[in-house]
Amino acid sequence: MFEEIRKEQLQTWDKTYLWHPFTQMQEYVKETPLVIAEGKGIYLKDIDGNEYIDGVSSMWCNLHGHRKKEIDDAIKAQLDKIAHSTFLGPTNIPASELGKKLIEIVPNGLSKVFYSDNGSTANEVALKMAFQYWQHKGRRDKTQFIALQYGYHGDTIGTMAVGGIDIYHKVFSPLYFKTHFAPSPYCYRCPLNKIPEDCSMECLGTLEKILQEHADNVAAMIMEPLVQGVGGMLMHPKGYLAGVSKLCKQYDVLLILDEVMTGFGRTGKMFACEHECVVPDLMPLSKGINGGYMPLAATLATQEIYDAFLGEYTHLKTFFHGHTYTGHPLGCAASLASIHLFEKENILENLQPKIKHLKEKLSSFKVLKHVGEIRQCGLIAAIELVKDTKTKEPYSWVERIGIQICLEAKKQGVLIRPLGHIIVIMPPLIITTAELDRLLGVIYESIRTVTEKV
Ligand SMILES: *Cc1c(COP(=O)(O)O)cnc(C)c1O
Repeated sequence: MFEEIRKEQLQTWDKTYLWHPFTQMQEYVKETPLVIAEGKGIYLKDIDGNEYIDGVSSMWCNLHGHRKKEIDDAIKAQLDKIAHSTFLGPTNIPASELGKKLIEIVPNGLSKVFYSDNGSTANEVALKMAFQYWQHKGRRDKTQFIALQYGYHGDTIGTMAVGGIDIYHKVFSPLYFKTHFAPSPYCYRCPLNKIPEDCSMECLGTLEKILQEHADNVAAMIMEPLVQGVGGMLMHPKGYLAGVSKLCKQYDVLLILDEVMTGFGRTGKMFACEHECVVPDLMPLSKGINGGYMPLAATLATQEIYDAFLGEYTHLKTFFHGHTYTGHPLGCAASLASIHLFEKENILENLQPKIKHLKEKLSSFKVLKHVGEIRQCGLIAAIELVKDTKTKEPYSWVERIGIQICLEAKKQGVLIRPLGHIIVIMPPLIITTAELDRLLGVIYESIRTVTEKV
């Protein structure tokens, strides 16, 4: 336990010296910051000794729980050899081993690994590779991109240019390159006003129109497969991804599948694209890559793309991109341990009954008066709250209904983070069904308390 004076110091220093991500600091400084001190399994502990279920896997990245012995040991063992040496020129042992391992587990057809250190850079790398690929192929007019409405690929300028969330992305729009936005297959609020019974995925038709008109100028289409995360955990109808993949091939446009959130088991398979037997040209990975231990990312590429960058160095076909901490030995060692755990602990097999259990339990939320839609894909669940379930009238973002519910859940020992009026449930993959019940119980009560109070 921390002494009282030390606790206050930490909280004061945080408010005095720090600027938090995605946070209105004017409000933040009025509250007492939650200071996490420890974690074990699915639990986090703050400096007051309060325990919380980590209900969103520390921003969607933790898989095996906190302080997982095998990952801790792998990092310690690597630390006893070397923490970091540059990857610009030399390689290192865990980076080399992980390269081989990743190629073994990703869909057939992806054959090269380019490391970076977060999801935004992994996507930025993919965008640059796609662009430069066509330059080398002599298709110099292919300089634009296609992305989905409500898509999210990171916070760098390039990834924001293909981002479809106005509230984050609009203010920077003068800085962006040209991107065409296709409608998101957000079935609960279908952009084409279809209902599932009367839908033949007309949204793919809209995408095809964009391709017909612009494919000659488009380098790649980028999207999150199956689930658009930050956009609200929007889950795509079966066949949509396969349809996109087919269209991209037909119109000679590369497909970038951003598996930063969906990768490493989240959807019930190792990678989301496996559900529809789709192999992208480029696949950025990050969040779950080492079980949520430290910054590491990778952009997977096909041999075809890699080969287009080969040539005499004077031909300037080199991919001029890299980060200081590229291929970080500690991150790679953690990743190897994490992937090994998938095999050793049969993570994917053990996940299937939990996914089923989650589905059953979630159905009980339907009776709540303000639950508009319940969505689930693997161990990702989202509850969209509405003012009126009949008209689907949404809560306005200024009402902060999600935040209020999360504050209520926190009182009951559950940490979750909403996306506006959408409650996200995404625990570590190793959560037990009993723990899942407790997590869902608290969330159920919190939704009821906040939305049904008079
Ligand atoms: C989180 C996320 C990113 C950005 O990753 P960072 O590591 O936060 O930069 C990109 N794409 C998707 C789908 C994500 O969920």
